[in-house]
Amino acid sequence: MSKIEIDKQSGCCFGVSKAISKAEEELQKGGTLYCLGDIVHNHLEVERLAKMGLITIDHEQFKELKNARVLLRAHGEPPSTYEIAKQNNIEIIDASCPVVLGLQKRIKRKYSTKLSEDGQIVIYGKIGHAEVNGLLGQTDESAIIIEKKEDIDSLDFSRDISLFSQTTKPLDGFMEIGEMIKARMQEGANFEIFDTICRQVSNRVPNIKEFAASHDIIFFIAGAKSSNGKVLFAECKNVNPNSYFINSPDEIDESLIGKNVTVGICGATSTPMWQMEAVAKNIAKAGASLQIEKAAF
Ligand code: SF4
Repeated sequence: MSKIEIDKQSGCCFGVSKAISKAEEELQKGGTLYCLGDIVHNHLEVERLAKMGLITIDHEQFKELKNARVLLRAHGEPPSTYEIAKQNNIEIIDASCPVVLGLQKRIKRKYSTKLSEDGQIVIYGKIGHAEVNGLLGQTDESAIIIEKKEDIDSLDFSRDISLFSQTTKPLDGFMEIGEMIKARMQEGANFEIFDTICRQVSNRVPNIKEFAASHDIIFFIAGAKSSNGKVLFAECKNVNPNSYFINSPDEIDESLIGKNVTVGICGATSTPMWQMEAVAKNIAKAGASLQIEKAAF
């Protein structure tokens, strides 16, 4: 007999939940509502909200809009977005995550101080990621983005360095880069490291590892573009090689599920609970052939 369990600690973080609720609330008011970029890195959720009327636009389309209502998603935006909105009479519904807004402020403050001291603002993150673009905008696009260890070669170790992180990066990678920079700093130059990783992601790591290790097979559902999805899935795969990344509940390969196994279902901080429940239901539907005893959902 097989058994299915959904990880109760998976699902949308509070920042993403808040943005989705805000979109639903605004849509209920009627009228046209645009969203600047995908509201969440999860195409099924984007499609669900599109059916309710949410229109997703990119930054080029945003520049052309006038007299409209636009929702900003949890990732946050650079100051230029707010300036365009002002010029074009766009009403902003700001659903930026408070954690990201706090980080933007910290970077802006540090940038104003370091500007006069010829210091470098360095951000550990993914080039082109929406949150990183918002952070970069706080420094007049001057911050240096470090994606991997080798990228630190581009830094000037004879000048001050202030290191921050995109909120969804892995803590160990950030700490390792911090140590590497520290070791190369030259005399007279100051190095500061600010751990700005969101605990909504990093705190899930120990839990998801334990969850993945305690099941025979894992289905991890998340959008292909989700950064934290990649991080959390890698943790599952590390402890349980029978872990599979899926983008949709319909992608379940039943042949992977043997008899007498425990199936764990988990996801990213951008994966709504309804999607994990749909995965569980799809597996349960195949119950007859799989001899699923009990669905713990
Ligand atoms: S992961 Fe953290 S910073 Fe990012 S949206 Fe969620 S709560 Fe906000």
